[in-house]
Amino acid sequence: MQRLVLASGNAGKLREFREILGSEGFELIAQGELGIADPEETGLSFVENALLKARHASEASGLPALADDSGLCVDALGGAPGLYSARYAGEHGDHPANIAKLLRELDGRDGSQRDAFFISVIALIRHPLDPAPLIAEGRWHGRILPAPRGSGGFGYDPAFLDPASGLSAAELAPAEKHRDSHRGRAVAALLSQLGAVPGG
Ligand code: IMP
Repeated sequence: MQRLVLASGNAGKLREFREILGSEGFELIAQGELGIADPEETGLSFVENALLKARHASEASGLPALADDSGLCVDALGGAPGLYSARYAGEHGDHPANIAKLLRELDGRDGSQRDAFFISVIALIRHPLDPAPLIAEGRWHGRILPAPRGSGGFGYDPAFLDPASGLSAAELAPAEKHRDSHRGRAVAALLSQLGAVPGG
């Protein structure tokens, strides 16, 4: 059983990582359980922020660390909310306010103007000075709904239409979400890299 610190204080993300990775031989310890707070996300891209979060958690804990930097990108809004998805409406983690702002910004737009994708970039750092972290990415393409639907998931899930099922991400059962989601795909890519690393 490999012990890993999960470099996130986001409860929705933590739950999903435990659901996705639970059966893969990892013991996931949330950084909050070790008294580690989020660092400032000063990167200008998802990969930069994933790396700085993983390095911070590994430095503070002395353990290997896994971080995910993720967000929702809408082409018609120049990629917003993007890196600032968690605090789009101002306050960090106010998901109803973030969704309300997104729907206002897209008011009056339809068709491909509502195209969007979720992205997750995962960084796995084996020790604080690891010069060769493993990086994996997953994307989930869909569309922003005119109004929120469903009560599962977290964040922007009620506003995101999964075209394959015709359901919002918040209407999908967890296992269905993880099969197609950005996070599910990023974890699958990471696991295949781990399989390719001798001793990994
Ligand atoms: P981070 O903690 O800085 O990576 O912020 C991620 C933010 O992106 C979350 O707070 C959500 O607003 C959004 N997000 C990322 N993944 C998902 C998802 O699977 N569903 C809904 N929203 C997500």
